[in-house]
Amino acid sequence: MTSRLIPESRTRRLNDHDPVDGKYVLYWMRHSQRSEQNHALEFAVRRANDLGKPLLVAVGIGDDPSVRTERQMRFQLEGLHETAGALQRRNIAMVVRKESPIDVATELAGDACEVVCDRGYLRHDRQWVDRLRREADRPVWQIESNVIVPVEMASDDREYAARTIRSQLQEAAEQTLGELATTPIDNAADGLSINGIDLDDLDTCVQSLDLDHTVAKCDEFDGGTSQARSRLNAFLKDSLDEYRDDISVVRPHCSMLSPYLHFGQISPLKVALEVRQAGGNQESTAEFIEELLVRRELAINFVHYDSDYDGLDCLPDWARKTLQKHESDARPEHYTASELENGQTGDPVWNAAMTEMRCRGYLHNHLRMYWGKRILAWTNTIQHAYRVTLDLNNKYFYDGNDPNSFANVAWVFGNHDRAFGERDVFGKVRTMTTSGLDRKIDTDAYVRAIAERFAASTA
Ligand SMILES: Cc1cc2nc3c(=O)[nH]c(=O)nc-3n(C[C@H](O)[C@H](O)[C@H](O)COP(=O)(O)OP(=O)(O)OC[C@H]3O[C@@H](n4cnc5c(N)ncnc54)[C@H](O)[C@@H]3O)c2cc1C
Repeated sequence: MTSRLIPESRTRRLNDHDPVDGKYVLYWMRHSQRSEQNHALEFAVRRANDLGKPLLVAVGIGDDPSVRTERQMRFQLEGLHETAGALQRRNIAMVVRKESPIDVATELAGDACEVVCDRGYLRHDRQWVDRLRREADRPVWQIESNVIVPVEMASDDREYAARTIRSQLQEAAEQTLGELATTPIDNAADGLSINGIDLDDLDTCVQSLDLDHTVAKCDEFDGGTSQARSRLNAFLKDSLDEYRDDISVVRPHCSMLSPYLHFGQISPLKVALEVRQAGGNQESTAEFIEELLVRRELAINFVHYDSDYDGLDCLPDWARKTLQKHESDARPEHYTASELENGQTGDPVWNAAMTEMRCRGYLHNHLRMYWGKRILAWTNTIQHAYRVTLDLNNKYFYDGNDPNSFANVAWVFGNHDRAFGERDVFGKVRTMTTSGLDRKIDTDAYVRAIAERFAASTA
């Protein structure tokens, strides 16, 4: 393993201001909510040391379009609680406030010598960073830490499919994959007194926030870097070798790391390095890296370069045209948005998937694909199908509102895919049927398992 300084490819200076004599260096933490293997954090520590100042890490959790439910917020706060403790042990102060992320950043920037932020790719993230860059009146740096290959290094354009970005990502990853050294802070943050919320009392905090409280946290997923590490270790030990041949969605051999990657509670570089070093069978290892590197970072390329990533305009021409041509095809079954949300269709497998999503906040990839494709078959306009799919995805999944969410919902409608033989409703867009799913998984066992597991919630 190599230790390295923060590579230039991850570093952007967003304005030309000179440092001012403030009380601290501010790291506005948003997407890399961890104390380890975090390039933005290590960069901020080095800037603080250069300027002879302590480091303040600040997070705003209010009014965030990416965290709209109690489930997602609770998971995020559990992670932040752990991160705050870990930073305290490094003599770095951390404050979490109820105001919106950008308001916290601009307010605390007022006393900072310099500001460092990490990188998100969705529209509101870009707008917020742009506002910070304009309003901060001191240097603002952005450090990209949640990708194996920085987005512009991977490609300078919107890619059409995995095949058009795969080799660039694979080659670049050979340069970028490496362990990040931790730099001790020279100036402890003891003297800083900045008010924030009490993370020891998460229940009160979550209840006081303006969220969708109907979507509660489930017992299975606890947020935090140590939880992410345990999941990674369990995956390496018990599941990596079976990853490629996995056919069970009841006890799947996948990592379940997506919620942790989504909130930046674990670094994708760390996951990739550990998977490569685990010595698992080559095909499974390659398949996992394909998902983590190629599919995940293709999704980031998509939202970064396509400003229409959350609507039909993002679809390739052939997909939009073929779906429009078939929009008035008769649908043998049709369900309203609320029938879909409540899992009240005539398809027991789909209903089970919707139940799992509602009650567990997670679904295996095979089921996510099937789930999305059936919505397209059962709703009367493409626009409506798109909206319902995206809304349900982002409401119930822990990993919702991620670049992956937008790229994969778009995939349901033909994005990043090729044309197939023409059929009713779907036109040339790939279909997925129950019999197709039956060939991949034991659907009867799945429906039974979900009914047993979530009997109380569906009664
Ligand atoms: C309709 C639909 C909606 C989806 N919505 C989301 C979403 O909201 N958030 C989300 O993170 N993923 C989404 N996915 C992608 C994928 O299903 C999940 O990332 C994966 O199932 C997460 O489980 P895991 O962590 O156990 O994955 P593993 O199989 O263990 O894979 C490891 C990591 O690779 C990445 N990955 C795996 N599959 C994909 C994929 N198809 N595309 C991009 N990255 C991938 C994820 O970061 C994942 O955590 C969606 C897929 C579909 C078809």
